[in-house]
Amino acid sequence: MTDPAGLVLTNGRIHSLTEPDEIHGAVAIRDGEIIRVGSSYEIDFLRGARTNVLDLDGAVVLPGFIDAHTHLEQLGRRLVQADLSGTDDIADAIDRLTEERERTDAGWICGYGYDETEWDERRRLTMADLDQVSADRPVVAFREDLHTGSLNSVAFDQFAAEFPEHDVHRENGDPTGVVVEEALNVIHEATTPNATAMRPLIEAARDRAHELGITGVHDFVRNSTAPQVYRALDLADDLGLRVRINYWSDHLDALMELGERTNYGSEFVQTGAIKSFADGSFGGRTAKLSEPYEDGDTGQWVTAPSELAGLIERADANGFQYAVHAIGDVAIETVLERFEGTDDPAVARHRIEHGELLTAELLDAIAQSGVVVSAQPNFLKWAREGGLYEDCLGVDRTGRTNQFRRLLDAGVVLAFGSDCMPMDPLFGVQQAVTAPHERQRLTVTEALRAYTTGGAYAGFAEDRLGTIKAGKRADLVVLDESPWAVPEAAIADIAVTHTIVDGTVVFEQER
Ligand SMILES: [Zn+2]
Repeated sequence: MTDPAGLVLTNGRIHSLTEPDEIHGAVAIRDGEIIRVGSSYEIDFLRGARTNVLDLDGAVVLPGFIDAHTHLEQLGRRLVQADLSGTDDIADAIDRLTEERERTDAGWICGYGYDETEWDERRRLTMADLDQVSADRPVVAFREDLHTGSLNSVAFDQFAAEFPEHDVHRENGDPTGVVVEEALNVIHEATTPNATAMRPLIEAARDRAHELGITGVHDFVRNSTAPQVYRALDLADDLGLRVRINYWSDHLDALMELGERTNYGSEFVQTGAIKSFADGSFGGRTAKLSEPYEDGDTGQWVTAPSELAGLIERADANGFQYAVHAIGDVAIETVLERFEGTDDPAVARHRIEHGELLTAELLDAIAQSGVVVSAQPNFLKWAREGGLYEDCLGVDRTGRTNQFRRLLDAGVVLAFGSDCMPMDPLFGVQQAVTAPHERQRLTVTEALRAYTTGGAYAGFAEDRLGTIKAGKRADLVVLDESPWAVPEAAIADIAVTHTIVDGTVVFEQER
């Protein structure tokens, strides 16, 4: 007689997302591990007097989502401070920042996530706009991509001496208040909360992740107190989310000194990759292209290729996976060459973050290298007619962005993440399934796999996570409707009713 299960989910449609996908009625869990999947009748035998039973009443269960590229600190800041995403226009954004001014007594007034392409004005926030928020406290509004931000006069004047000149936007010689890249990093550091202030931000972001069915994240951090908070919450057994911390290359020396390497850590908090930026973003016209933007030049390097080569070589030789942000075709090509110079990029599972603009040659080269593409299906919202991609790349190149179909067909491992634009796996799945171009479009199963098994592989955890199978950790999400059954355009509206991490229910929808 086997020991009874601690938790049983029964009367459901449990998709294993293995290859092929199998559908079972029930799953039994003990000590955080899936001990058996089968029919409700079969699993009934594992029920004991103290087994918790969740009757699914036909609901769908999937492996928990893994957001393979995210920034919980940013999400936490947005949840707690001024959220500028989804604002109607510039006046609305100014209103929200003014509310934030009222909420706090002193110091920075921070807003996050504005996207001027959603506004009729179609222009970024300026110094004049933000001076309306405050004339005596520093104000910053970060654009959604975090590579571009807008400052008021107080903030600009206080830090102007530290800004590289090419990262400051000017009109007729005068600063507009818009700064990008390294200049914005100065502001980012100046506004970083200490560990005490960080904890509620991380907890708010973690709770939001649970509401969205996310059971694991690959978080990207730089000069942040977030890692301290992750480890403190983990030690207190209060994290409830699997976090792989990907550290900026600034931290490589310190990590090596401490004897860290990729995959070191606990059940819940592990060291992931070392991260660098090769180029910028389309929104900032700073992603590095072979042909000029519709309204600009060919972008810029954030890390010079020669410097990148040295970093990748050193990290690789010391047991680190490497993740490089590369969006433009020239940046992707260059990063791939640098990865190919390492011992075995497929074994190290080096990653290209975003990998947006691809040529046919690049698709083949990525497939041959074994490098993982960590992509954001939600970015396809910009690939629609008249969207951001068309504005900066034109119609033809827009069709060559985010070629998920082609990547999978070529045999590339695709790990989906959100980059918090917005954090929402089902929204991402819907975008991939309804993509405007055939070479971008995935089936529901493929998109869900990229958000589960893809992330597990990118995190060296495919033996433990990513599918629903006996022996795997019990990270699960329960949905009230089937993503295979609802209209494609309604996948994002499916409600998450339960999120389970390591056998513990961490989120339950209120009824
Ligand atoms: Zn990012």
